[in-house]
Amino acid sequence: MNHYNVKRIVSNILMENCYIVYDDKNALIIDPGNTYFEVMDFVTKNKLKILAVLLTHGHFDHCLSCKSFQQDGALIYIHKLDEDKLYTDGNLSTMLGIEFPFIHADVTFVEGILNIGEFEVDVIHTPGHSKGSVCYIIGDCFFSGDTFFAQGIGRTDFYDGNFKDMQNSLNKLKSYLKMPYKFYYGH
Ligand SMILES: [Zn+2]
Ligand SMILES: [Zn+2]
Repeated sequence: MNHYNVKRIVSNILMENCYIVYDDKNALIIDPGNTYFEVMDFVTKNKLKILAVLLTHGHFDHCLSCKSFQQDGALIYIHKLDEDKLYTDGNLSTMLGIEFPFIHADVTFVEGILNIGEFEVDVIHTPGHSKGSVCYIIGDCFFSGDTFFAQGIGRTDFYDGNFKDMQNSLNKLKSYLKMPYKFYYGH
């Protein structure tokens, strides 16, 4: 298992966790909530190049600053079943009266391996919190998004959430939970 450094930045909206996964040169950004300036500060100080932004799902608290990163040239990645949330009310921002800068993703994917620079990213599709929710495994790091947390699991009562799907997803993850990953949660 490759080891990567991980920097957590907590977004001031719904206490969402944004993560910077990095080696000595390059970085992947996972779930940039309202964290653009803090992320840029960190990558500039550490002389890192952002290769991509990976979203665990399309809810606004996880993607609010995607447009800023995309304008800087980073590619935005999301599961194809959550892609439309980036340019519709499906991201739930209107529920809280928050203005969300709409974008279209650069890369949509289903389950499997993504190779981004030197990073190998294993995508596990885990519907339940939303149809296109995923977990990411990168080296020794496991990013669960809103599928599960240190205590408990994500909500399944949003419009495309589903409790039965969530149960299936958690079953699918059982073997991974026994592995010596470091777990990084969405909140
Ligand atoms: Zn969510
Ligand atoms: Zn969330």
